[in-house]
Amino acid sequence: MTKTALVTGASRGIGRGIALALGSEGYHVIVNYSGSEDKAKQVVAEIEDAGGSAEIHQCHVEIYDDVKKMIKHITDAHGSIDLVVNNAGVTKDGLLMRMKEADFDRVIDVNLKGTYNVIQNVSRPMLKQKSGKIINISSIVASLGNAGQANYVASKAGIDGLTRSVARELAPKGITVNAIAPGFIESEMTDVLSDEIKEGMLGQIPLNHFGSVEDIADTVTFLASGRADYITGQTIHVNGGMYMG
Ligand code: NDP
Repeated sequence: MTKTALVTGASRGIGRGIALALGSEGYHVIVNYSGSEDKAKQVVAEIEDAGGSAEIHQCHVEIYDDVKKMIKHITDAHGSIDLVVNNAGVTKDGLLMRMKEADFDRVIDVNLKGTYNVIQNVSRPMLKQKSGKIINISSIVASLGNAGQANYVASKAGIDGLTRSVARELAPKGITVNAIAPGFIESEMTDVLSDEIKEGMLGQIPLNHFGSVEDIADTVTFLASGRADYITGQTIHVNGGMYMG
């Protein structure tokens, strides 16, 4: 039977790359997005052109009831949900002294609460199936800290802790829960940074080049595969050596 994978925030960037990779691995991919419908449709078209199958599903991951409906739709339509990649994420940077409460709340809501919303709703069908894999996209800055990103770093450090706790809860039923912490990956999220900041970053990467979306997608397909069945509760760093835990 075809396995089903949900990738949140799959209309662009890293999520798009993950969706394409899972499509080529034979998953039926649910391409979640918040606003970019045309881009999400384009991802589905690319997966289908490559011989795979996919569908779009609009949902703001921070809205619990909408996430609940999305997961119900997937399990009703496909019978099971085998893999979830919690990738949707936003930034609203600013130094703490000037950070607006709304900007702190927004980033925590989408990144951390959104991840909880999906895990909470997917864990019931996965427990029933006695199988499933959950992969959360964290960030290198959860380990390093980053001036100007207190909200984002708090959300990603929260994801790492959430991953370890949920991994312990779901392990007895054979469900694995892991996080991937990308370093500096070339995407729309990082395109907006100045050349000066990018140069500074490059100087901190021992492998001396930025990461690609494919570097993260390859890690996802590994963790999703049977070759990673004994790995749970881990945060896997993919960062060119920028942080060595
Ligand atoms: P992008 O900004 O390129 O893409 C973000 C994706 O998330 C889009 O598909 C967007 O959908 C979706 N999204 C945003 N808000 C919501 C929401 N409320 N509900 C559902 N989907 C939403 O980001 P990246 O590809 O760069 O990053 C992907 C993940 O990787 C994020 O979690 C990020 O924190 C993490 N990361 C990225 C790094 C990097 O160097 N790029 C480094 C470390 C971690 P739409 O298009 O519809 O708005």
